[in-house]
Amino acid sequence: MSDAAGMLITLSGPSGSGKGTIVRQLLERRRDTVLSVSATTRPPRPDETEGVHYYFRTREEFERMIRAGAFLEYAEYNGSYYGTPREPVDEWLSKGMNVLLEIEVQGAEKVMDSGAALVSVFITTPSMAELERRLRTRATEPEEKIRGRLEIARWELSRAFRYDYIVVNDEVALAVNRIDAVIKAESMRYPYMKKFILEVMRDAQTDRY
Ligand code: 5GP
Repeated sequence: MSDAAGMLITLSGPSGSGKGTIVRQLLERRRDTVLSVSATTRPPRPDETEGVHYYFRTREEFERMIRAGAFLEYAEYNGSYYGTPREPVDEWLSKGMNVLLEIEVQGAEKVMDSGAALVSVFITTPSMAELERRLRTRATEPEEKIRGRLEIARWELSRAFRYDYIVVNDEVALAVNRIDAVIKAESMRYPYMKKFILEVMRDAQTDRY
């Protein structure tokens, strides 16, 4: 890790766990943190914009990007591809910014297995009943897709043990505070403080002390 490197953070958790809302509020609070925009083959929802929420791509385009090694990670989820473009992430990190990846569990595990320096956070609703309620309230999808998401959620919860932190989203403001606390604590780890410590040491070697 270079001295200037920011922190790579994955946020995962069942669809409907409130990740999106939490991320938006977290970004408002932390100017040192950016969200990676993923590519996907799923069709845009009515309120979604190309390049803001996702890069919407055909399966052919996505598969070409896979072959070109353009993804830090990618996965198939509920019948569509989702992937994190590698280049912008590397660029932000090298500038010292923290980068959030809001990605599902298979993708997060790929990043964990790659050996990259990473802080992984799993977000969950307080209960399965609450998750189902939130998915149905959103109601942008047919019943079959909602059932698909619940089935995937059950599996995702069974992988929570691999994560560094588990954040319960009982109330958005509280969940945002918890993740903010994780970032604050993690940024005090030695690799992120090394540059600071070296400067203090250099200062300590001058004649003044
Ligand atoms: P949605 O269709 O609700 O926008 O996203 C479905 C799931 O895909 C969510 O759990 C979301 O976090 C995840 N996802 C979004 N972008 C990526 C990505 O780049 N890679 C992976 N592996 N998952 C992603």
